[in-house]
Amino acid sequence: MPQWAQVVKLAFATWLGVLAWSIPAVAYVRTTTEVSGVPVQWNERCVVVTIDQRGSKDLSLDEVAQVMARAAANWTRRTSQCGGLALSTQPARQILDVAPDGLPTVVFRNIEWRRPGKAPHDPSAIGLTTVMYVNTPGQPGDGTILDADIELNNVNYTFTTSAATMPRAGTALADLENTLTHELGHVQGLAHTCWDHVTQKAPLDDKGNPIPDCNGTVPDTVLATTMYPYASMPGETSKRNLADDDVDGVCKVYAPLTLSCHPEIQGGCAVASPSPSRRRWPVSFVVVIAASALALRARRRRRSC
Ligand SMILES: [Zn+2]
Repeated sequence: MPQWAQVVKLAFATWLGVLAWSIPAVAYVRTTTEVSGVPVQWNERCVVVTIDQRGSKDLSLDEVAQVMARAAANWTRRTSQCGGLALSTQPARQILDVAPDGLPTVVFRNIEWRRPGKAPHDPSAIGLTTVMYVNTPGQPGDGTILDADIELNNVNYTFTTSAATMPRAGTALADLENTLTHELGHVQGLAHTCWDHVTQKAPLDDKGNPIPDCNGTVPDTVLATTMYPYASMPGETSKRNLADDDVDGVCKVYAPLTLSCHPEIQGGCAVASPSPSRRRWPVSFVVVIAASALALRARRRRRSC
């Protein structure tokens, strides 16, 4: 069985404002394999994310589908200018959960903030993404992403599409598009743009430099990224807008698409370089990593809730 790793906490803090479109790209950070340290990436060029049919207690399945489509389009629209991966969504058709099944999934946890039968997640986490990839150094396909599933904390948060929404009692407000845009960055293989101390050492950016400590002074260029692991306030929406670094992190890995994706086709698309099916990889090759959890967290400069 694949080994589930610890969940990485991702908290939203610090006001990001509207800097995303005005700050030049500096660096990005990609998730790397645990053993060989190579960046993880999809072989497929069209990744289709499906919503668990159980949906959210706050929003209808149609509303969730519309937000999912916008979050996917946030990425695909920008990355299509320079390369990239085509993200799309499918309507909910069945009950799905986090599993190494090759079906990228979004699951709202409506009753308990945990995977079935597993330990509870950190209650401050809004969402988290689990990426499953081949972790076999020296073998073809090492670092290939096989699946990526998103969990959303509908126990401690009220998901919304509008800042005017009143959160349910005992919960904080979380903008669904803001959250999903960040988590879809992890689905594509991006990591956080500052060091949140989940790893022992600071990860390196694309230029080989250690990324800044989230608890230290963080440059505005990092604060402005969608992959920055903190938010300014409940209901923050600024991460809907991608920074150039977020876009670069995808484009430098995935060359431009030359064919069209067809998400209506089971399995995703009718494009891509010849690549092995995800399901052909032995399970023993698969390692599960938890890329992120999106949370509200008290920070030194300001309490977010
Ligand atoms: Zn994250």
